[in-house]
Amino acid sequence: MRMYILISIIKLSLSGTYLLRIGVRRLMRNRIREEVTNLIMKYNLMTKPVNILKIVSDIGFTIEDDSSVHDASIDPSRMVISVNPDDPPERKFYSVAHELGHWFLHDRTVAYDRNTSNAHHNCSDEERAANLFAAELLMPYIEVKNDMVYKRYNPKDIARKYGVSVNAATIRYNNIFKTIF
Ligand SMILES: [Zn+2]
Repeated sequence: MRMYILISIIKLSLSGTYLLRIGVRRLMRNRIREEVTNLIMKYNLMTKPVNILKIVSDIGFTIEDDSSVHDASIDPSRMVISVNPDDPPERKFYSVAHELGHWFLHDRTVAYDRNTSNAHHNCSDEERAANLFAAELLMPYIEVKNDMVYKRYNPKDIARKYGVSVNAATIRYNNIFKTIF
């Protein structure tokens, strides 16, 4: 009996932690959506694909080619976003949006580069947040959702309209699909 109570307590506290994590993620997602909506309004980024260079130049960054980076990196001390010149254009586009996510959401004194010791790993919350920022900026939730519901867009249609890779469009499609049906 005592064992049963103990197990119940453990189960309860585990589900509490789980709910807390979901809550934190929802807060993060809402904050990111708000931040991105403000940027879209401020820079008048209604047309697609989104002209992210407007943001890059306005905040004073330049984009440089650097074949040693994995996709991209951001170095606030030099005000440079480095991209790998060998990546396809739609991947560079997404990578720059991802690095902008670090600028708008995270510590601006830190260089985010997967090749250095202060690396941002794919599994970290900051990485997840930067990816969500990029997805929201390039493929705004409401617009993509309307395309899916009213125009029957599939991931390829999304990729074409929003200028992203089919892979990025598929992830977005699947995430938004879960919220509709
Ligand atoms: Zn990152």
